[in-house]
Amino acid sequence: MTNNTQKLKPATVLVARGRSHTPGSPLNVPIVPASNFVLGDDAEYARDTGTPTWHAFEEVVGAIEGGHALAFSSGMAAAAAVFDQLPTGAKVLIPTDCYQGVVGLANAGVKKNQWDLHTVPLSHTGAWVEGCKDADLIWVESPSNPLLEIADLETICGAPRKQSAILCVDNTFATFLNQRPLQLGADLSMHSATKSIGGHSDLLAGVLIADASKHWEVLNQTRLLTGATPGALETFLALRGLRTMTLRVRQAEQNAIDLAERLEKHERVEKVRYPGLPSHPDHELACRQLQGFGTIISFDVIGGAEPADQVCASTELIQHATSLGGVESTMERRANNPGQEHLPPGLLRISVGIEDVEDLWKDLEYALTLS
Ligand SMILES: *Cc1c(COP(=O)(O)O)cnc(C)c1O
Repeated sequence: MTNNTQKLKPATVLVARGRSHTPGSPLNVPIVPASNFVLGDDAEYARDTGTPTWHAFEEVVGAIEGGHALAFSSGMAAAAAVFDQLPTGAKVLIPTDCYQGVVGLANAGVKKNQWDLHTVPLSHTGAWVEGCKDADLIWVESPSNPLLEIADLETICGAPRKQSAILCVDNTFATFLNQRPLQLGADLSMHSATKSIGGHSDLLAGVLIADASKHWEVLNQTRLLTGATPGALETFLALRGLRTMTLRVRQAEQNAIDLAERLEKHERVEKVRYPGLPSHPDHELACRQLQGFGTIISFDVIGGAEPADQVCASTELIQHATSLGGVESTMERRANNPGQEHLPPGLLRISVGIEDVEDLWKDLEYALTLS
């Protein structure tokens, strides 16, 4: 690679990096199902020194986010590695609206008297700035799951914090195509690679991207010691997902904007939450901060739980399933999930796929009419 590599655009990095340039080598890094390697070179034992697909995956994600990536067995394994860095009695900030697995992890530590937890609404930028002063972990998720709230990342990442503090942004919903937290001053960016990175709902993986000098080393050590390492097949699939990610995400995003606008006009819909709509309370901030509005829409069906469940049961194309980021559209009523009962009862979250938008709308419109 030439020095020009540094200047490559994200769409090119996703396709071009993580490949060998040695004559005769395969264009795509092959899956190597090995736990151990013949000693005498860098590769020794897979939990420690990794496998070729895992390294290639990390190379691409690190290059695109502007840091050094660490692949994990899942998004939660990546999150747990971050929480694992905290000293006893630490002060932890998380958003009020936050991925429920991370909330569970944070609460589990509170139960064991490991840290003090403070939940702050994402829109209360002043409270984040104040909280950053003496926090040990500042965990931000933007846009948030499932309410799609937006944090003022530039202000929060720029606020004074302790030398030893960790500021981590869960970048799963935005993806690095739309937002690169390290460039705004975050210490870590985190993804559930299970979602838009993998893109086909056929793997579990996670990734952290760190500033090499600051946190990479200790997180790498934690991954090794806890064995939270990804499989060779999973990282192959995640890497393969990266290759088409720009096309997938941009198409799904286009569909999402279209559906969000149409949903907003539908008589059975009370409210649409999508950062790309002018009606979103943080639309202006989203326009400044994000290069795209993402592939997730949440909307509230009039009448609450029962009609919303009816909508989920009535679509034929849009699968009634949890999770998100696949090429296929999925939808679920979030308050149905244990621990999410506080959410509006009629709130449906759609992960918009890459199907033809007219087919998606027909499916949704029909289901709404029945509700
Ligand atoms: C899915 C998800 C996670 C957890 O990732 P897993 O791969 O399921 O462990 C974390 N944060 C967000 C925003 C997610 O959507």
